[in-house]
Amino acid sequence: MTFSIQNLKSKIQNSIDSGVNVILDCSSISSACTDFGNLVRGNTCGIIQPCSVEELRTVVQFANDHHLQLKTRGKGYTQSGQSVAQEGFTLEVTQLNQVYELDTTAKTIACEAGAKWQDIVATTISHGMLPRVLPLNLEQTVGGLLSTGGIGSTSKTYGPVIANVVDIDIITGNSEYIKCSRTQKPELYDAVLGGLGRCGIIVSTTLELRTIKQYIRTFHLLYDSLDAWMHDQVLLGKSNQIDHLEGFCWSSAKGIRNTPSGKRFFTHWLYGLQIGVEYSIIEPCLTDILKGLNYCKLIHTEDEETASHVFRYQPRFDMMRETGAWNQTHPWIDCFMSAKTLAEIMPEILDMLPLSLGDGHRAIMVASDNLPYLFMMPPEDDIFCFAILPVGVATHDTNSLDVLEKVNQMLLNAGGKRYLSGWLGKSDFNWKQHYGNRYDTWVTVKQQYDPECIFG
Ligand SMILES: Cc1cc2nc3c(=O)[nH]c(=O)nc-3n(C[C@H](O)[C@H](O)[C@H](O)COP(=O)(O)OP(=O)(O)OC[C@H]3O[C@@H](n4cnc5c(N)ncnc54)[C@H](O)[C@@H]3O)c2cc1C
Repeated sequence: MTFSIQNLKSKIQNSIDSGVNVILDCSSISSACTDFGNLVRGNTCGIIQPCSVEELRTVVQFANDHHLQLKTRGKGYTQSGQSVAQEGFTLEVTQLNQVYELDTTAKTIACEAGAKWQDIVATTISHGMLPRVLPLNLEQTVGGLLSTGGIGSTSKTYGPVIANVVDIDIITGNSEYIKCSRTQKPELYDAVLGGLGRCGIIVSTTLELRTIKQYIRTFHLLYDSLDAWMHDQVLLGKSNQIDHLEGFCWSSAKGIRNTPSGKRFFTHWLYGLQIGVEYSIIEPCLTDILKGLNYCKLIHTEDEETASHVFRYQPRFDMMRETGAWNQTHPWIDCFMSAKTLAEIMPEILDMLPLSLGDGHRAIMVASDNLPYLFMMPPEDDIFCFAILPVGVATHDTNSLDVLEKVNQMLLNAGGKRYLSGWLGKSDFNWKQHYGNRYDTWVTVKQQYDPECIFG
């Protein structure tokens, strides 16, 4: 860097002084010094908030000219500092939040990257449509989720959100404005979707939609066998009778037992499935949908409007805020893994997890046949996203972090591919291992579109 920070700050304000909002005071920028994970602290010099594409381009050009680093940020929901500037500036894109007209014929909607998913839902739902895949939390930004992947309860059919993107407009590290799609600049499209903003900034996008039915019936099933639970998910993953599928692991019947290393807590795990079927008039028939499944109990059947179902996790997020869990640390682990491998290693993993990590463990099936080239999943059939998502972990709870580090290594050693928004472990993330034989492709695209590495 060729300037002192103080110099830079005033230079930024003067040079980008076409009205771009630059926040520099320490108390206002402290929120950008960490992310939802609350495990990695950064050192941002300030927050730049462009309000238009022109402003955004000017900022990127300025960063290029002065060899400044920019860390693009939406809501900052990552867990390993992926949205935290270690040096340089935070580039907050939340002001670019327009949602445009829905195209009912093409079944698509265009929007800017700072729009939240709840804004997209508000526009599409009145037309009887929704994005093909929605995340469980609708407060995050479209650009942030497209930069990580986007898993939801319809992923068993549609894959991650990024498998359902018509096009994206990007500002590259060279400050070029480029529209790309699967056929137009596909190498950039493949590198930016799920690419953590390291090759370019997503400015706007067009998303594919699906037609929904007005109501949804959700069957909540209980399993006491991991094998039966996995088997049924793989079966349901291929079924076109159901629309939503989510798997859960619940700890129950806890106790303490003697082990060679002394007394240890243990838990008996139970498993759950939530199977959602959308309908208009004719109600889905229990026996048709659940025929041939090996659950031990149907514990609940929920009927609601599909418009309300998309917000079903809001009480969980509200509870996390009310109890203070939201402000604790979140070493979340999400990993893509084949059904076969997951069934082999999951019992050992569940047995290792401290009970204090609670019941936020999930396995969601994700179709893997239409992925951007650089979004990594194991090259096998029947892929799950296995996730350990504790509501909050106390800062001093180093034991849980040690265990999660071991789990991370186990998943990677078994051929798992990490979902990149999570806590990526104690050591530097191994990008070569992650991309495997596609690593060189990634490096080439990075060199072409962000040669000065202003996006880190
Ligand atoms: C409570 C909670 C619930 C979640 N639920 C889900 C879920 O259901 N499904 C799921 O898949 N994930 C889920 N996540 C993970 C979440 O998708 C990611 O953390 C995502 O990053 C959130 O978007 P954001 O707006 O907070 O982006 P940020 O965290 O701010 O940014 C994410 C990454 O993208 C980059 N980035 C941000 N905006 C842009 C842009 N416009 N252009 C280029 N790069 C950009 C950032 O630099 C960063 O690397 C959840 C996270 C939380 C905390």
